[in-house]
Parts: sequence; structure tokens; C-alpha cells
Amino acid sequence: MSESRAELILNLFKESQALLKGHFLLTSGKHSEWYFEKIKLIERPVVLEKIIDLLVEQIKKDSLEFDYVVSPAYGGIAIGFLTALKLQKMFAFTQRVEERMTFRSGFAGLQNSRAIIVEDILTTGGSINEVLECLQARQVTVSGIYCLVDRSGGEVLIQGKPVGSLLSLKVEAFEPDKCPLCQQGLPLIKPGASDKK
Ligand SMILES: [Zn+2]
Repeated sequence: MSESRAELILNLFKESQALLKGHFLLTSGKHSEWYFEKIKLIERPVVLEKIIDLLVEQIKKDSLEFDYVVSPAYGGIAIGFLTALKLQKMFAFTQRVEERMTFRSGFAGLQNSRAIIVEDILTTGGSINEVLECLQARQVTVSGIYCLVDRSGGEVLIQGKPVGSLLSLKVEAFEPDKCPLCQQGLPLIKPGASDKK
């Protein structure tokens, strides 16, 4: 029996260990069934490559015209670079300098070009909007916007449209006294705690 594309995608994110299913204590104090650890996406390049291949397949289907793939640092650098390589396009990234998103000097070809934005995990869309502003400042036409994981489940709209994603998953957070996972007696995991050995 062959896996559906959706199952394949979900399994790759689990294999990367960027997506964990369980019962997690979030920094907000709420509880959640899912936990994303962005950095895990780039920790296993072999798995990331398989994920990127699926994203590239999706981008190709959309038949967009663009010269650049642009991503926000840092996680986005590996992801956008690999995407650009597979699509045989140019690559540029933005980074935060004193809180403000900006292009570092260089990337001279960007001016008046066409680009797609590729982000790792979309939560509120804040970074993507900042990348958009950076691109607008260079008169770049944005042909498409993609992320690997849309944590809003398609609720976040950028320029009035949902962002193209491989995995769209609405992550619900529960107040501890209303948490169905607590009610099932599942042990609560504090993510990151295992890093502090
Ligand atoms: Zn709970």
C-alpha cells in the first residue's frame, strides 16, 4: 500500500523530529498536542532534502515566473538555498539587524527582479510581511509565497491569500484546566528540557 502524499509529508516531518506529537507545555503556559522545533528541520539534511523535493514539486506545478528564492535567516537560509538550487534559481536572504529585517549588502541582482519567498514555519506571518517590505523596497515583484509548515492551518493571509504550504496544521493550545490530553492522563513534556543535561 503506497502512502498518500499527505502521509508522506507528515512522516518526513516526524522523521526530521521537527514535528513532535504528544502533550507539550508551551512557553505560554498552555498545553498542546503538537510541538515544532524549527532547528530540527536543518539538523538532518538528508531528510530536509526529501521535504524540499516535495516543495519544489509543488512550486513547479504553480508555473510561476521568478528569478530569486528569498528567505529570512537563519532557518530559512538552508531551506531557501536548497529550494533555489533545485529550481536552478538565484538565492538571497534577509536578516534582522537591530530588530529590523534587511538584506545584507550584496544581492545586487535583486533590484527589479521577480522572486518567491520561502519560509520554514509560518506562525503569524510576521517575518514574511517583513521580507515583503524588504522586497518592495527593491522593486521586486513577488510571484509566490511558500512555507514548509503553516501552523495557522491556512488562517494567516498574506496579501489576502493563504500561503502555499506542504503541511497545514492548526495547532490548538489548551488552558491546563481544559486540556483534553491532561484528562487522558498523558504525561506532560516540557520541550527543550532534554537539551539542558
Ligand atoms: Zn494538558
